[in-house]
Amino acid sequence: MRHIDSNSTAPVAIPSLAIVVPCYNEEAVLESTCAELLATLDGLLASGRIRAESRIYFVDDGSRDGTWPMLQQMASNDERIVALALSCNRGHQNALYAGLAQTVEEAVVSIDADLQDGPEHIASMLDAYLAGNEVVFGVRKERDSDTFFKRLSAEGYYRLMQRLGVDLVFNHADFRLLSRRAVNTLLEYPETNLFLRGMVREIGFRSTTVEYARRPRLAGESKYPLRRMLSLAWKGVTAFSIAPLRAITLMGLITGALSLVLIGWVLSVKLFSGSAVPGWASIMVPVLFIGSVQLLCLGVIGEYLGKIYEEVKRRPRYHLREVVAEQRTPVTTRAETRAERSG
Ligand code: UDP
Ligand code: MG
Repeated sequence: MRHIDSNSTAPVAIPSLAIVVPCYNEEAVLESTCAELLATLDGLLASGRIRAESRIYFVDDGSRDGTWPMLQQMASNDERIVALALSCNRGHQNALYAGLAQTVEEAVVSIDADLQDGPEHIASMLDAYLAGNEVVFGVRKERDSDTFFKRLSAEGYYRLMQRLGVDLVFNHADFRLLSRRAVNTLLEYPETNLFLRGMVREIGFRSTTVEYARRPRLAGESKYPLRRMLSLAWKGVTAFSIAPLRAITLMGLITGALSLVLIGWVLSVKLFSGSAVPGWASIMVPVLFIGSVQLLCLGVIGEYLGKIYEEVKRRPRYHLREVVAEQRTPVTTRAETRAERSG
């Protein structure tokens, strides 16, 4: 376990736990997932890590198979299970967010329905929570269960995001524990393009990581085909970085410098060699010049566009972690005390 930041905190009370599970066409895994998660709750309760008022929230993300009837059945069989259904398929991040928003428990763990991120690691997450961490990131130790392409692209992506200045936890996806306060803070983010793993880094608070080895999918197939993976990756870049816009400015500067050299060459051919075709220089010079000026202007517009984008996201500027102030006696209490004395 590695501490990303640490501050001394008071002992933490045993929490009630919510496990949030987004489900999209997961009928093949639901039964065993439900059984395993209930067993996990039992184990955590027996080991004294959670209180009995703990729940599992399944969020049906507009599934087209038997997921929803199964969830309804599961929720009516066991009071620890809450079943929620979105009106239509809104994607993993939105389904997860919807589930988080419904929880009231003091600690909240998000996990995929296929249990590739083994629920046995929730115990270590809770230990980290009880040690005073408000955000505990599940981090994959290795990517043996991934295809070569997925491994290469995923690790390349985390590196790219790092270079773009986006603060992500390497190899952390959406298996994490959040304290009540961290969940509430996350829910203050009004943006519609959700990239939760980035937002969770942004909210701050004391955090740590728990490493684990990912299992292969229980059954069914991945609900993240290449198209969705690319869309999430691009969402991450555009929601957290204006570097692509800045790249236009850089391109404008580079082509500007190159075009100056080329313009020099065109003019020297025209003036000193006499071998230039008539009209060549008068076309080449404006094409090179205007091309680079246009790129540079686009870059400048991009800078403002980036600023506007940052503003319209209306993200909270900061979150308070602690306020220490001397306790002031409320006026009413003071009056009551005086009344008691006189009586
Ligand atoms: N999921 C969802 N909505 C979607 C796609 C996926 O709620 O539109 C859920 C899915 O049911 C699972 C989680 O997101 O619980 C992760 O999906 P999956 O395991 O297929 O992704 P992978 O492990 O292949 O990245
Ligand atoms: Mg999976």
